[in-house]
Amino acid sequence: MHVAVALFTRDLRLHDNPALHAAVTDAESVLPLFVEDEAIRSTRYGAAAGRRAFLRQSLADLDSSLRRLGGALVVRRGDVVAEVARVVRDVGAEAVFASLDVSPYARERERRLRTEVELCLVDGTFVVPAGEVAPAGGDHYQVFSAYHRAWQRAPVGDPLPPPARVRLPDAVVQPPPVDPGTAASPLQGGEGPARRRMTRWLDEHLAGYGSGGHDDLAGDVTSRLSPYLHLGCLSARELAAEAAARGGDAFVRQLCWRDFYGQLLWANPRTLHEDLRPRGDHWLDDPDSLAAWKEGATGYPLVDAGMRQLRTAGWMHNRARMVVASFLTKHLGIDWREGARHFFDLLLDGDVAQNVGNWQWVAGTGVDTRPNRVFNPTAQLRKLDPEGDYVRRYVPELADVPGGDMASPGLLAPSYPAPLVDHAEAVAAFRARRRLDP
Ligand SMILES: Cc1cc2nc3c(=O)[nH]c(=O)nc-3n(C[C@H](O)[C@H](O)[C@H](O)COP(=O)(O)OP(=O)(O)OC[C@H]3O[C@@H](n4cnc5c(N)ncnc54)[C@H](O)[C@@H]3O)c2cc1C
Repeated sequence: MHVAVALFTRDLRLHDNPALHAAVTDAESVLPLFVEDEAIRSTRYGAAAGRRAFLRQSLADLDSSLRRLGGALVVRRGDVVAEVARVVRDVGAEAVFASLDVSPYARERERRLRTEVELCLVDGTFVVPAGEVAPAGGDHYQVFSAYHRAWQRAPVGDPLPPPARVRLPDAVVQPPPVDPGTAASPLQGGEGPARRRMTRWLDEHLAGYGSGGHDDLAGDVTSRLSPYLHLGCLSARELAAEAAARGGDAFVRQLCWRDFYGQLLWANPRTLHEDLRPRGDHWLDDPDSLAAWKEGATGYPLVDAGMRQLRTAGWMHNRARMVVASFLTKHLGIDWREGARHFFDLLLDGDVAQNVGNWQWVAGTGVDTRPNRVFNPTAQLRKLDPEGDYVRRYVPELADVPGGDMASPGLLAPSYPAPLVDHAEAVAAFRARRRLDP
């Protein structure tokens, strides 16, 4: 093949990028292209300032890496299919190479692209691609432990090196460098920062991850690689291989969760909006409680710390995510979709498959095998943040309250709100709504 287009979507990297690798291997010259999709930019998700800055930085990083190999990144803005078709015509490309993805939006984009151009889709978003392992008689797993066993046995190729050279088509005039912008992002975007963070984190923290590190809210030693994995600045397959080689099984298991939710959404696109397993829930319409939850003013220190971390850092610790999500859906009886929307607005790692899959898990409408469990925010505080250090970091009203006292809601500090609901009453009301035995 003479000319190909390598269409980047959320695989913004050179290392272990199978779509780019295939394009460079199959074609004499390749045009690397990214389209700032108006359909995404115009949503609240696409408009969020921190996320936009992170994307810009990631594109600039990719562009400068491509230039070192002789190429460059062409960035267009508009309808992704129309722009790709135009570029294909302009450079006389015979094919477009891109990474497969699982969201309903990505799959519709793939379908539309196929009608316009010769499209070569290549796996590159997950360690084990969606649909690659399946139970007898089905196309996907709904039980994590069974999926994990099959996933561990699945053949996974070795990570690919970055291309040695990228030769632009003769017709292409070198575009100007991509401007990283000056807007601040909570985390520096791009493959370079992602790889540096990966190496440092594996060296310093992988060893302690399995023995409690990943649950230690105040210690805050999880990798924070999720935003990079979401935009593909880092290959999940490479990260899993690096961690496995150092005995990091507990960490690799978390990457398996990511694949698990990927294949779940791929096989159940309707669960973007609908319950996977409806429980007959009648969600409450309670805008005041929803607003208090969003602001981190529920009177439950752990819930409030998590919600304020989300607002200030664009990220929240996984344990806190579980507690705040359980509180919204089970204590307050508010629809998980409200929570997922708010998370999606603010999370730098906001990802439809991961967000919806996890929200449904916590709400009990998804794949949790114990759908009616309720996280007790006070017991969780005692367990995960016994000294109250995590809470104090985000809730200044409680700066002078010792950790032990934080587990007694209502007796905290004059400027801190009283608990929105009583725990025991809220749990009883939830059980009544679900028609469970008292
Ligand atoms: C209600 C709720 C919503 C969530 N929404 C998102 C989301 O939009 N995007 C997102 O990437 N993650 C989401 N998660 C999963 C998880 O909280 C984050 O992936 C994790 O906190 C990211 O931090 P980390 O990179 O430091 O994780 P680490 O502990 O370092 O884990 C490494 C990687 O494993 C994967 N991983 C870890 N835990 C999970 C999990 N529970 N589910 C799926 N993958 C996991 C992530 O890719 C993560 O980067 C959500 C969890 C909950 C409970």
